[in-house]
Amino acid sequence: MPNPFENAMVQLDKVSKLKDFGDELIARLRQPDRDIRISIPVKMDDGTLKIFEGYRVEYNNALGPYKGGIRYHPETEINEVKALAFWMALKCAVANIPMGGGKGGITVDPKLLSKGELERLSRGWVQKLSDVLGPHKDVPAPDVNTTPEIMAWMDNEYGKITGEKTGATFTGKPIEKGGSQGRGPATGLGGFYVFDSLRTQIGLPEKCKVVIQGFGNVGANAARVFALHGHKIIAVSDSKSAIYKEEGLDLEKVEAHKKATSSLKDFPGAKNITNEELLELPCDLLAPAAFENVITEQNAEKIKAKAILELANGPITPEADEILFKKGIPVVPDILANSGGVTVSYFEWEQNLKSEIWTEKEVLEKLLPLMNDASQKTFQKAKENNTYFRMGAFILALERIKEKM
Ligand code: GLU
Repeated sequence: MPNPFENAMVQLDKVSKLKDFGDELIARLRQPDRDIRISIPVKMDDGTLKIFEGYRVEYNNALGPYKGGIRYHPETEINEVKALAFWMALKCAVANIPMGGGKGGITVDPKLLSKGELERLSRGWVQKLSDVLGPHKDVPAPDVNTTPEIMAWMDNEYGKITGEKTGATFTGKPIEKGGSQGRGPATGLGGFYVFDSLRTQIGLPEKCKVVIQGFGNVGANAARVFALHGHKIIAVSDSKSAIYKEEGLDLEKVEAHKKATSSLKDFPGAKNITNEELLELPCDLLAPAAFENVITEQNAEKIKAKAILELANGPITPEADEILFKKGIPVVPDILANSGGVTVSYFEWEQNLKSEIWTEKEVLEKLLPLMNDASQKTFQKAKENNTYFRMGAFILALERIKEKM
């Protein structure tokens, strides 16, 4: 498996060859400000003690407090967290919000823990890191396998340790615990706004056939929004299965089926396919919404989508980027395409600090112009520099970070 941090640094090398940002900025962005590794002892339900490995990487805070989610996954390790933290710094810059980049994680399969164990583990992560966190220092949020409920436990633990009560240290909290309206669907929705802003520029029809890889918070919400706007979702997948129906899937029924059987497999009227087949389906738009490194030099040549929207972080390797560029398949990069999530996180932080509560309408009215502006500026930067969108977004981000640094 390619190392995500090495991939991120290859991207940084590429952009520094396209445009001169000065050696100092590039050198500083080759390393996080700090990377913290912790061990978290957890008393398991059977009375034994288990030690888990955890992380917080604070990459860059030129634009504001370190910001970024916490990932719970059995394969999460420091290089992944470093790459994700680097991308967060650029993502906040592209979205033009006053936040830096950070990321956290725990190497764990949360499905194997009881609720009590999960809560003790989450509180344990905060106990080890309370010194470095804070509304003006480092503000975590959910990521893969972390939920609003986990954010509420963490925020509560942080408040108990430090006395801080604004709630602004963690975003993505449940609404009744200081969360923002619109934060749940924000990443999928923001992805749709970005797509909609760039649709004609990337040559896509008014009604697209869409394939979505991943059916977690991001993928499922994106599917819903695309379908709501008249696009046809022809295939979706989760970690275990993938289904395809050329005429379009009825998402409500798909969700009910997944709920009832805990899988997408054998959805009536659809064909079971493999994850590889899903990625290679002919369609207008392919949206990877799961993990890193799903489109690599191994399968890039076989991609038949007319365009790709990266709702996941890092789903395409640098080698695959080149292949797709040569094939003329535009890729709307992660640091733009999935920036709606952190943008609404920033709104949540602002509401908490000002003791305000915004309506869903207000939140969405603030999100849309930011996404439009980020999309069009990325497009312009790519055009001006005769490069692809990822490099356009990198140029936009590095210019903004450099200005502040
Ligand atoms: N984990 C999300 C991301 O990768 C959201 C981060 C946040 O809201 O701070 O963008």
